[in-house]
Amino acid sequence: MYIDDTIAAIATSPGEGGIGIVRISGDKSLEISNEIFKSISGKKIEEYNTRTLVYGHIFEGDKIIDEVLVAYMKGPYSYTREDIIEINCHGGFLSVKKILELVLRKGARIAEPGEFTKRAFLNGRIDLSQAEAVIDVIRSKTDLSYDMAQRQLEGSLSYEIQKFRTKVTELLAHIEVTLDFSEEEEVESVTYDTLYSKAQELKKDMMSLYETAETGKIMRDGLKTVIIGKPNVGKSSLLNAILKESRAIVTDIPGTTRDIIEEFVNIKGIPLKIIDTAGIRETEDIVEKIGVEKSKEFFEIADLVILMLDASRELSKEDMDIIEKIKDKKAIIIINKTDLPSKIDEEKIKEYIENKRIIKTSIKERIGIQELEEQIVNMVYKGDVRQNNSLMITNVRHKNALEKAIQSLDDAMVAIKDKMFLDFISVDFKNVWSYLGEVTGDTVSEDLIDVIFRDFCIGK
Ligand code: GDP
Ligand code: ZN
Repeated sequence: MYIDDTIAAIATSPGEGGIGIVRISGDKSLEISNEIFKSISGKKIEEYNTRTLVYGHIFEGDKIIDEVLVAYMKGPYSYTREDIIEINCHGGFLSVKKILELVLRKGARIAEPGEFTKRAFLNGRIDLSQAEAVIDVIRSKTDLSYDMAQRQLEGSLSYEIQKFRTKVTELLAHIEVTLDFSEEEEVESVTYDTLYSKAQELKKDMMSLYETAETGKIMRDGLKTVIIGKPNVGKSSLLNAILKESRAIVTDIPGTTRDIIEEFVNIKGIPLKIIDTAGIRETEDIVEKIGVEKSKEFFEIADLVILMLDASRELSKEDMDIIEKIKDKKAIIIINKTDLPSKIDEEKIKEYIENKRIIKTSIKERIGIQELEEQIVNMVYKGDVRQNNSLMITNVRHKNALEKAIQSLDDAMVAIKDKMFLDFISVDFKNVWSYLGEVTGDTVSEDLIDVIFRDFCIGK
């Protein structure tokens, strides 16, 4: 694909900083830069080695705009595979802005979000799953999810998908050969048997990748966790204990957590997107009501519910109502304030709700928090201790594509079992092939590509 315009954007994040970078990519990068940049030596940028920092100044006419270092990365050995110029100027709002304006006036167009990475994809330097990993690297919340994104960026997922596709191609070739040689005769059943066992093998491999998607999604997007319970049981205290710093307001007055507090915390590599709420209950207080409404909404979408009860108080109807609500949810029950004399009827809880883990805590005395964290980790990994470095599907788009590929493979296998015409079977295999291609971007629509990159930052 040939892209003929030159794009530019500020690549560093807005605000004050040590340096700011204006990035230009496209055919006219060098020409534009030479018009506004003068090196100290008087030489042109291209007279230096590629990827060398050249010291000089950006001029607007005779006026110095800033003192800069300019790097020229000649295509195809650049991020986008096009000619790239990066102008390193002094950090701060005006310097980058003035330089960008100059570049635009000389004929570049302002880049759309993610457009540099999009060009890297369109120009074939990386595939779509790698491009998506770029944003995952930028946004990852824990070391573990960062490592996963880095591996995807290196192409670990692409490699696996290509392996599957190669196997599909082999199956298709097998069918072709058979068709060529047995036009008139019946297809031998050994052909069907071979096809079936190969398809079965492929399915096994695809399934084992597919099954990582649930954990993988949590790794990438966080485990949406909501802490519920009636006022004053210790929800905010728990959140603070987990955060190990006081961001939520903790008081003795019931219902003071007025707003929803949302934080990412790192539980042994798992990003927990934790939400403290005003508690699910009826309220007249309008400010608090916002919190309650929201908490109901979060409750619905939560991956994990932590229900907190107070050991020093008897179970109330309010408690029982909440217990009722979590019956069908992934939930952990916490009985807090175990440092105080117990008044709670634990048996009644157990009677009411089976197969939910109950953890006793005293947030005040820092007891039980470790156990809670371990329980969360167990729930995410569901007992199967995956190697931290094993490949995972972290992106819902990839999961959906893989799911469709597996469905088509199932169709193929049914068709093989029924000894259908080979032409028929090959249609199913072709579908497997193209659904797999959606992951790497080989077989996706332009619209979808636009949607994916729209989510990126400017200048990336
Ligand atoms: P929330 O309304 O559920 O968010 O409850 P808070 O976290 O605001 O806590 C209410 C009160 O209970 C505060 O005074 C806390 O210090 C106290 N509290 C929290 N956890 C414990 C605990 O384990 N033991 C005791 N004795 N008090 C606690
Ligand atoms: Zn609170």
